[in-house]
Parts: sequence; structure tokens; C-alpha cells
Amino acid sequence: MMRGALSDITKAVGHTPIVRLNRVTEGLESDIYVKCEYLNPGGSHKDRVGLNMIKDAEAAGLKPGGTIVEATSGNTGAALAMIAAIKGYKCVFVMPDKMSQEKISSLRAFGARVVMCPTAVEPDDPRSYYQVAKRIAEETANCFYANQYHNPSNPNAHYLSTGPEIWEQCGHELDVFCTGMGTGGTISGIGKFLKQKKPDMKMVGVDPVGSLYYDFVKTQRITKAFSYKVEGIGEDFFPSTMNLNIIDEIFRVDDKECFLMTRDLVRLEGLFVGGSGGAAVAGAIKYAKQSGRKENILVLMPDGASKYISKIFNDEWMRENGFLEDEKGLGTVRDLLAGKPAGPVVSVDAKESVRDVIDTLKKHGISQVPVLEGNKLRGMVQEVDLLRLLVKGSGTLDSPILDLIESDYATVTMSTKVELLKSVLSDTKIALVMERDGVVGVVTKIDLIDFLARKATPAAV
Ligand code: PMP
Repeated sequence: MMRGALSDITKAVGHTPIVRLNRVTEGLESDIYVKCEYLNPGGSHKDRVGLNMIKDAEAAGLKPGGTIVEATSGNTGAALAMIAAIKGYKCVFVMPDKMSQEKISSLRAFGARVVMCPTAVEPDDPRSYYQVAKRIAEETANCFYANQYHNPSNPNAHYLSTGPEIWEQCGHELDVFCTGMGTGGTISGIGKFLKQKKPDMKMVGVDPVGSLYYDFVKTQRITKAFSYKVEGIGEDFFPSTMNLNIIDEIFRVDDKECFLMTRDLVRLEGLFVGGSGGAAVAGAIKYAKQSGRKENILVLMPDGASKYISKIFNDEWMRENGFLEDEKGLGTVRDLLAGKPAGPVVSVDAKESVRDVIDTLKKHGISQVPVLEGNKLRGMVQEVDLLRLLVKGSGTLDSPILDLIESDYATVTMSTKVELLKSVLSDTKIALVMERDGVVGVVTKIDLIDFLARKATPAAV
């Protein structure tokens, strides 16, 4: 073989550069660097996962000519299809029908078969893409079902490849590693390796508003997930590939912050990255501002901008979704709260009894109240929970309130759009407005109705 050449494209996976951010980080004490995983040949960090999954599948008996099945759309599909093309495996990808034509076409370009399924069905419906993938895998001989949400080869890929590579590039000089979280393979695998090398290395997770992870890490409660536009990060269930214990700190970002930062990374830093990269940098900057220390922070850039040209880099799409500065829209949670009577949020302490909480609800004429420990949110208590307890006789007025807290609420931030709040409140009773882990406001359906009614009839106010 000719000197200087690689034997095939899979040998070009990894060894991605680490680059310092210079302009979007102005004024920060810390230095923020990015790991350019979007430069992998299949277009993302999932190339490493694809290689490791296929290596493990071969060790477990996948034979030449076999079929790889996955219920996916994006980057894992591209990685598997690229490797399968070289190794001569067939690929079947099962996708929900909301996926963009570009994504479907690029998988077909690698020779993969793509099966479309309806999006609007429950996960256990036999027509759902998850069930169809499982069924195809069961019915196909010499088949490997990649199952990235529950396959330990996914986090292991990062433990064996990305983690050691980062350590070789940065060593002890690295203080903080920050990334978005989807399957959790990235943070779990890299985190395990880096913490073995340097136990006080900090792992910072970034989660989109609407995903389950943030609230669960903060309060151990499974709150209501709702939809958002940034792709590849956040979940509405808990994959077994995610080790939440590895996370030292978690920060939350909304779509607008993610997309404006993604645009800045391209326009100011020349980094042609996708939305989850912008999300991770936006989260890392929040961390850096909060920490205030001089640290070296490394942020993983999962994939490239080319998949999002018709979205994040399209002014019309950005404006339609209210992500550009000159948008009109209905305003944000901040505007809504400004129209409510001022005053601190009524809350109760986790140590209080049922009796104390009833007094608080009566005194303020409210039917639910957040329960805090210090200033940390533990959950909500609703009038109906108290009623149930007393009617069933399963507790008394002296019972601790902590036993009654529940999770039928969603959490939002001051900059969450009112348009989004409408869909949040159609799924759940109440939205808690959070800032720096503290509850700064409570929004119920009637608050939203009141806000929208006042907007519709300004003269009547
Ligand atoms: N960003 C993008 C664009 C992705 O496709 C993914 C994978 N879902 C992630 C981030 C998150 O990576 P992981 O699944 O390893 O948490």
C-alpha cells in the first residue's frame, strides 16, 4: 500500500482536532475549547460508536453478508451505513416519517434500505418505528440490531476511543468536559475514562428545555417532557446507556440560545457545526459564568451544519419559529410574569407537615405549591393529593409533606416562549419557572389564558 494512505475510510475515524474558541467566549475567565467530532468521515461522533458496535457484533457472531438493523434517523445511521458499505453488510434503517428528505436520501446513498413508519403512534404500537425495527431484526437471519439506547458498545466506544484521545491531547491541563446528552453514550463513556485518570475532572451535561434529564438530575423527579427543535440531545425516557451519576453539573438551554450560538460558532469562529454543538457551547458558557474560576473547558461538537442548512441557517425558518431577534410573537414567560401581581413565589419547605401546607394553601388561596429543600426544588404538592391522603386515611395532618410530592409539572425558564408554553400546559397542569435552580415563578393555565386575553383586548385592561 502506498505510503501515507489509509487502508479504508474507517481508519480516518477519530483523531479529531481540539480548537480554542476566541470570540464567542470574550470576557470569560475560563478558556473554552471544542473537540471537532463533526470532522469524522461519516459526519459525527457516532462513527466511533458504529465501529465499536459492529466490532462487538462480529465478536458475538455477526457473519459477513449479514444485516444491520437500527431504529434511527441521524448520525448513528450514517455511521453504520458507512462502515457497512466497506464491510459488505446490508443495512435496514427504520425511521419515523417526520424525518427530512435529506436524511433519508443520504442513508440510501450509502446503499441502506430505509423503512418509514408513522410518527404519531405510541412507542409500543406495532406500527411504531421502534417495534418495526425489532420485528425486522427478529425475522432476519444473521442480523444485528444495533439498539444504541441500550447497547453498552455505545458508551464503551467513547470509553475506549474518545476518552483516551482527549486525555492524550489535553492530559491534566483539562479541568472540565462538557457535552449535550442524547443516548448518554458520549458523557458516560468519556466521563468514566477521564474520571479514572483525573478524579476531580468535572463532567458538565447540557440538556434542552423540554427534556427529562435536567429536572431528574436536579430533583430526582420525572417531570413532563415536551417537544423542542434542537436535534440529537434530550430525551423523554431514560436510556440504559446514560449514566446520570457521572454528571457533576447540568445546565439547560432553550432552542433560541442553541441556534443563535450555532450561527455564531459558524460566523465568528468558522466552525461548521450543527445545533447540538451550539447547545453545548451555550451550556458551557453558563457553566463558566457560574464557576468564575480560570479553567480549561472542552466541549464536544457532535455533527456538522450541512444537515441543518434548511433550518438553523435559514432565516425564514428561524423567523417562523421565533428564533430571530426581530420576531414579534406572543412574548416570553418573563412578559407573562410581569403582568401578574409581584411578590415572591409561595412555597413550602420539605420538612413541613400536611397541616402546615394546608394552612399555606388556604392563606394564599392557591391549589398547589412547590416544595423546596433549602432553595432547591423537590417537587409539587396539589390540593387533590392532600384530599386523597385524608380521605383514604393513609396519613394524618402531622404526616410529612415530602411523602406526597409529585411530578405532574413541567419546568421552563424566563425566556421560554409563550407559544411553547401553550403546548406545555396542554400536557400538564402547571409550569414552574426556574432560574439558577430556584423557582422564580409559577404559571398555570388560567395565568396563560389571562395573559392571552389581555393581549387580545388591550383596551379592556
Ligand atoms: N448531537 C447529535 C447531533 C446527535 O445525533 C447525538 C446522538 N443522539 C448527540 C448529540 C448526543 O450524543 P449521545 O447519544 O452520545 O448522548
